[in-house]
Amino acid sequence: MELPHSILIVDDNKTYLVGLKHIFSLMPVVIDTALSGFEAIKLAKANAYSLILLDIQMPEMDGFETLRQLRLLPWHEFTPIILISAVYTEDLDKIKGIQTGAVDFIPKPVNPDILRAKVKVFLDLEENRYKLNALVKELKVKNRLLTEEIDKGLQIAKELEIARAKAEKASEYKSQLLVNMSHEIRTPVNSILGFADLITNPAVATKDKEKYLQYVTNSSQNLLFLIDEILEHSRLEAGELKITITPVDIMGLCSELLDSFDNIKLKTGKDKILLNLEIDTSKPLIHLNTDSQRLRQILSNLINNAFKYTSSGFVNFGFVQNETEIEFFVKDSGIGVAPEDLDEIFNRFKRAEHNPDLMESGAGLGLSISKNLVELLGGKIWVNSTIGEGSEFRFTLPLNEFNSKNDTQSSIVQIDSSLDFDWSSHTILIVEDEELNYLFLREGLRLTGISILWARKSQDSIDLVKAHPEIDLVLMDIQMPDFDGYQATRMIKLIRPNLPVLVQTACAMAEEKIKSVREGCQEFITKPINRLLLLKTMSKYLIH
Ligand code: ADP
Repeated sequence: MELPHSILIVDDNKTYLVGLKHIFSLMPVVIDTALSGFEAIKLAKANAYSLILLDIQMPEMDGFETLRQLRLLPWHEFTPIILISAVYTEDLDKIKGIQTGAVDFIPKPVNPDILRAKVKVFLDLEENRYKLNALVKELKVKNRLLTEEIDKGLQIAKELEIARAKAEKASEYKSQLLVNMSHEIRTPVNSILGFADLITNPAVATKDKEKYLQYVTNSSQNLLFLIDEILEHSRLEAGELKITITPVDIMGLCSELLDSFDNIKLKTGKDKILLNLEIDTSKPLIHLNTDSQRLRQILSNLINNAFKYTSSGFVNFGFVQNETEIEFFVKDSGIGVAPEDLDEIFNRFKRAEHNPDLMESGAGLGLSISKNLVELLGGKIWVNSTIGEGSEFRFTLPLNEFNSKNDTQSSIVQIDSSLDFDWSSHTILIVEDEELNYLFLREGLRLTGISILWARKSQDSIDLVKAHPEIDLVLMDIQMPDFDGYQATRMIKLIRPNLPVLVQTACAMAEEKIKSVREGCQEFITKPINRLLLLKTMSKYLIH
């Protein structure tokens, strides 16, 4: 017995009560006494006793009823209660007492030694029950902590699993990219090499050579398109693609696409396919606030695909508008898409099984890029298609409060194809290590009458700037054999701080453009160089 125990003794006979109390005088227990059942209940409500000795025969409320009520108190539900009686000593009384919740039954007159021994046994049991309870509580806490730990472990395992799946997907993506790219790059490069070889063959007729030259140009354009797609896709993957929202004249943009695809279809042997622009002219035309370049890119992708997967019939495109959005569409009478491929084709690298008669190349990136772009602009894209009959790609772009009919400023920049400059009084320096690139620039500028100096190394460009004060502008390549174009620019700017330097590079990444501005260059032109764009850009710095 270790705990400080307290015992309640209940008896209506005061003398007997004192006698009972005396029996425990040498034991380390605290004793409370009650002369009636009512008093006992009152005391038991306020104190948690370790044991209760209860006389049965009492006026008003007997021991059985007192016992029943004591058991209703939460902290006395399991307290050992021993009944004491001089009258109720038959077996039936004992049974009734035990059934009511007593742990033992002691007849009067009480034998002090037996009572002390029994009380000690029950107090020890009570103490053990108390310790057991404390242990159960502690175990419950530990169990809860353990469950939390397990939950945490499971959560970490789940996160690890997600990270692993992501890493696997990324590696799968890389392998797939390599496989697709090596195939897609090989095809146009083979054709470029093959036809270039035929062109140099003196035995081939000039008429055929012209045809082969067109093939070389087409394959080069395919290659370029593929590189752009890969770059665009990796920018989207990295979340680096920024959009610029301006009011866009969508009617103007669609007309421009109509013109340009009318031209393209002639060059690609698809001239029999009818290309139509369908617009509901009954509604006032609006300027949509969106990213014009991205919108053009999405429509171009879809129209391009429509031509690619159609051998005869039509390609129609246009838009309809309602209160909240503009819905663009591109329909064709081509090979169509099988129902099981309809969702899949928007995933990267997914290409449907094609009719072998219409084997078209492609990296399977165009629709995935288009879907990402549409979503970036706040819309959604879907396709309806019937195999053998044709497809209809539709996408929405939201109209918002900025898209009012009063927005009149169009963001479309037109390049005037009739650019005609006389720069015969000007001199430029072309810094370019590749002879072919230099020749292309020289030819492109020939009609302007401009004088051209050529530096094949960065060091030569610095020497030429020192020696020729008449140089008005520098076209600077970045990747040079001795040191890079930026270093050359810095040194040129030390000699002629105001001499305009226009970067012309094969590296089309946005960071490169930012770097070129930081390094003091005035313009950034990417290769392959568009002649008209080059003239237009140069004209900002040359008086004509
Ligand atoms: P790519 O054309 O380079 O394969 P895309 O992502 O543009 O890649 O298209 C994915 C696939 O969707 C194509 O390979 C083709 O199977 C299918 N597809 C796209 N546009 C059309 C279309 N207009 N008609 C039929 N199939 C199409």
